Amino acid sequence: MGSPWSELLANLAVVAMFVSVWIHTHVWLDRRPAAVKATAFGLLMGAGAIILMLTPMQLQPGVLVDLRATMIAVAGFFGGPVAGIVAGVMAGAYRTFEGGVGAFAGAVGIAVTMLVGIVGNLALRGRSPGMGDIMILGVAAAGGSLLGFSVLPRSVIETVLPKVVFPSSLLIFVSVAMSGLAIYQERRRIEALRSRRIFKAVVETLPDCLNVKDLDGRFIAANPATAELMQAADTKALIGKTDFDFYPPETAREFREDELAVLASGVSSTIEQRLLHEDGTDAWLATLKAPFRDKAGAVIGLITHNRDITLRKRLETELAESQARLGDALTHMADGLVMFDPDGRLVLCNAQYRALFPKTADIRVPGADYRDILRASAARGESVTPPDAVEEWIADIMAMQTVANHRQVRFADGRWLDVRTRPTGDGGSLSVFSDITEAKQVEAELLAANEKLNLLAHRDGLTELLTRRAFDEALAREFGRGRRTMAPVSLLIIDVDWFKRFNDHYGHPAGDECLRAVSRCIEATARRPADAAARYGGEEFALVLPETDARGAFVIAETLRARVRDLGLAHAGSEKGVVTVSIGVGTFDGSADIEIADLLRRADEALYGAKAAGRDRVHGWRPHLSEPRSTAPQRKA
Ligand code: GH3
Ligand code: MG
Ligand code: MG
Repeated sequence: MGSPWSELLANLAVVAMFVSVWIHTHVWLDRRPAAVKATAFGLLMGAGAIILMLTPMQLQPGVLVDLRATMIAVAGFFGGPVAGIVAGVMAGAYRTFEGGVGAFAGAVGIAVTMLVGIVGNLALRGRSPGMGDIMILGVAAAGGSLLGFSVLPRSVIETVLPKVVFPSSLLIFVSVAMSGLAIYQERRRIEALRSRRIFKAVVETLPDCLNVKDLDGRFIAANPATAELMQAADTKALIGKTDFDFYPPETAREFREDELAVLASGVSSTIEQRLLHEDGTDAWLATLKAPFRDKAGAVIGLITHNRDITLRKRLETELAESQARLGDALTHMADGLVMFDPDGRLVLCNAQYRALFPKTADIRVPGADYRDILRASAARGESVTPPDAVEEWIADIMAMQTVANHRQVRFADGRWLDVRTRPTGDGGSLSVFSDITEAKQVEAELLAANEKLNLLAHRDGLTELLTRRAFDEALAREFGRGRRTMAPVSLLIIDVDWFKRFNDHYGHPAGDECLRAVSRCIEATARRPADAAARYGGEEFALVLPETDARGAFVIAETLRARVRDLGLAHAGSEKGVVTVSIGVGTFDGSADIEIADLLRRADEALYGAKAAGRDRVHGWRPHLSEPRSTAPQRKA
């Protein structure tokens, strides 16, 4: 052995060597299972402990100490229980094999330092040890090795130990602290390296551009996305260059101005930038610019993050354009348009819609509830609503919003609105309102004209009584009804007496006038709505009297005959001196099995009888009687 100093240095060198071997080799074991790595660490530290035991220091003549405790404590503390046990068992086995007076004491010291390392490791609960932890380990390892001395024979303890304890503990503490520190630094280096690698991977795979420039706008660092955006070959091609090297001068100048503004203010800002490439294509960027500061806080550059928002910008533009087009369409359409959401709230409407409702235009605005609008419309006398049932009316209209429908609504001021409603995809509704008041008026006029036409088609031009054809229909209808309901139907056939002579004497126009006068008498006599009077032929008339039996028909016929006579129209060609009519009455009593033709024949036969009997009289048809019943003419006094 040399001087104590050289021995000391040799011991420390061994410790340093083994720690250094670990630091330089452990990376190879990173991919192996944790237990393999721990075992390897334990083996290395155990080997270190054995080498240290082979090169002890002689602090006092005959008293040898070494730094094995450092290796064993460090193995457990940094490598965990497996490493600690492997190193401890190796050292313990060697010490036992070595034998001698201190064998037992050595084994105890080894066991205690092994426990110190392992317990220290467990106490960390997975966190990385700090400087403080390493100092505590050093103290504990030094203390633990002392326990080994305590089992030496009493005589040895009393004579030798006082001179050895302090230097030996100090050496253990120093060597633990030294090797702990070395491993600690290595761990920090590894962690920094790992996080750098992670950051680099993140930045390089980031689809957004991230770069750092110096105060003059030259790139210091940039990720591949930046190179791609700037159409540069790779990130290296950017370093030391500025925007002016890649963009048209105008764009580069604008970008530089933005950067100078951030540098001047010292605060980060987000802006939207339009980018015009040399090849003429353009793009939009959302850009965050933040000052890049050194450790002292001084601004030394600029960090830029851009995201390509060209697609978003294009969609925004398209949306704005389509909104403008929709707005245009809504403004220029002739009809009122309104849209409600599923809750019945007005989403949008055009000005025409509001104009259609002058009394409630103020509340027909986005956000308004349709129920409130309808309530106000009823209260302000705009809508025609059933009195005392406004809520039911509102509920009906709300229900109509959920199904496609087309309706026409009349308003209190007489206007008609056409309303077409369709449910929308989101559960709301869309309605189109058109003012159809004018169309409605035209429709009413058309209806009236139609009725008039109908009348013309069915009425005789001279007398305005039914035409023969319309009369046939009326007769068939009433006859059929009478048959179904077993009700009687009577038919009168009226013929002007000696009318040929009237025409001959007074002329045709006077004859027409006479026919008109007779027809007015017929109308005045047949007053029931279902009675149908017609001009049956030249100067012959017919009158259907539904639900009228023979007796009743006879009374009416007699009334008519008297009424014509009482007109007192002079008739020079007639022996009566005035215009008179003869009337034949036929009746279907509701039960007899006869046809219309039979009824007509009966009335005709009765008329023939009346003529034959001297005219100006009513004859009824009576079965099985040779002479029809008749009335005698009543002469005026
Ligand atoms: P009778 O008492 O037997 O009925 O004698 P009459 O002269 O009335 O005979 P008849 O019924 O055959 O006469 C029909 C005449 O009625 C023929 C025609 O001159 C006349 N007449 C028919 N239609 C019209 C008409 O539209 N206007 C006018 N002014 N005369 C008509
Ligand atoms: Mg006639
Ligand atoms: Mg006649």
